[in-house]
Amino acid sequence: QSFAKNTFNSLKNKAEKALHRSLDQHVKLAVTGLSGSGKTAFITALVKHLTSQADDKNLPFFDVMREKRHIATKIVPQQALTIPTFEYTNALSALLPVEGEPTWPASTERINTLRLAIKYQSNSGLRGHFAPQSTLYLDIIDYPGEWLLDLPMLEQSFADWCELQYSLLMQTARNEKAKPFLTALAELDLSANVDESKLADVAALYQQLLVCLKEDTKLAMLQPGRMLMPGELKGAPLLQFFPVSNVPDDITEGSNLAHLKKRYKAYVKEVVKPFYEQHFRHFDRQIVLVDVLSALNEGSETLHEQSRVINQLLAHFNYGEASFFKRLFKPNIDKLLFAANKSDHISAQYHKDLALLLDSIVHDQTNHLKFEGVQIETMAMSSICATEPRQVAEKGQQLACIYGKPLGEQEWLTYLPPQPPSRLLNKQEWPKQGFEFLSFSPLPCPDKRLKHIRLDHVMQYLIGDKLT
Ligand code: GDP
Repeated sequence: QSFAKNTFNSLKNKAEKALHRSLDQHVKLAVTGLSGSGKTAFITALVKHLTSQADDKNLPFFDVMREKRHIATKIVPQQALTIPTFEYTNALSALLPVEGEPTWPASTERINTLRLAIKYQSNSGLRGHFAPQSTLYLDIIDYPGEWLLDLPMLEQSFADWCELQYSLLMQTARNEKAKPFLTALAELDLSANVDESKLADVAALYQQLLVCLKEDTKLAMLQPGRMLMPGELKGAPLLQFFPVSNVPDDITEGSNLAHLKKRYKAYVKEVVKPFYEQHFRHFDRQIVLVDVLSALNEGSETLHEQSRVINQLLAHFNYGEASFFKRLFKPNIDKLLFAANKSDHISAQYHKDLALLLDSIVHDQTNHLKFEGVQIETMAMSSICATEPRQVAEKGQQLACIYGKPLGEQEWLTYLPPQPPSRLLNKQEWPKQGFEFLSFSPLPCPDKRLKHIRLDHVMQYLIGDKLT
């Protein structure tokens, strides 16, 4: 009898295990944003808050925490063996060093990933009934937003691309900086027999131009994206192309121009397309981090260009049946979040303005786009607070200041940040003195706990429904 009982119990255990496995869920969460937008900091904070700071006080708006259903989260081996692993331990030890001052971790320069297993108590339906403990496997995929901006190239011929990119170089914000490239281009005989080293020289100047535009002006419409973030393609001939003015219909075979066209096509086919096929198509959820405050610092032109880039991106999420994007990839993404990051750089009373500003950018053109089956949301947040709020009394008034150590400085500062506009201003409305938001070093955390602003709202939006 005891043999029968043991067999029954073992079968029951096996059946329960199989049931648990079948009720486990997988979500691929993609994290992107232009370089410096805060992807590395965001992922580090997300993992830290789920693994060692997971409680209802720390994450009150994350349902699974508030309802005390979270059991434990740990990092588990990833499934995608060809993608480098996100270096969580290194990133965390930069923020929480054993000794010395905390520093920001090194930024994302390529795609990388990390897998979390989130164990929780289910409270709904079949899962809640049969499996008191469920597991959500969360694959976090971090990739440079610069790569996403190459998406329109899939639809453009070399001549189309040149027309667009070359005309951008004629605009004031770019023209002055583009002089060395434009001069070298004027001296290059495009119809002459190919001279690989000359092409490489001009391509190097084009790359320097893109990098300089990115660093000095934070302009965003910069292609090809891999010239800014080459990842493993550094130095590959595939990246040695650039836009020229007026591409003729008949291009002499073997000429410099023929080679540029060939490289452009190869780039689209071998770099842009595979990224969408192998990665993007499989994402379930996407967060796009936007550094709105840095764009405001740069001025009207940069902010408007960020807005155009976001809208160009959104146009590709237009899931209407006839959408080119849908025809090509059938993406899975059903939730898209645009997050205005680093809101700890302004006083809490202005967070709303920041959120409204991003909302006005995102919803600028979405009204007439049709989004089938994809939810879009905007929020202002901060993955890691680098400042503390301080009330300062001045002339009988209470000023909501912030306190922190500006990046690169030794002295701590109490400072009153400007109020960001709550909508996209045009050139005439832009304040004469511009905007100046400071950046800060991370705060020392003697208790080894990171602070955030609305990271719990972000988590709830992105994965809350998968943890019920
Ligand atoms: P990535 O290039 O997108 O990976 O960006 P990082 O995560 O490396 O962030 C770039 C820089 O932005 C960091 O070095 C910090 O200076 C700043 N930063 C990122 N996230 C935050 C945040 O949540 N709060 C604050 N105050 N600064 C941040």
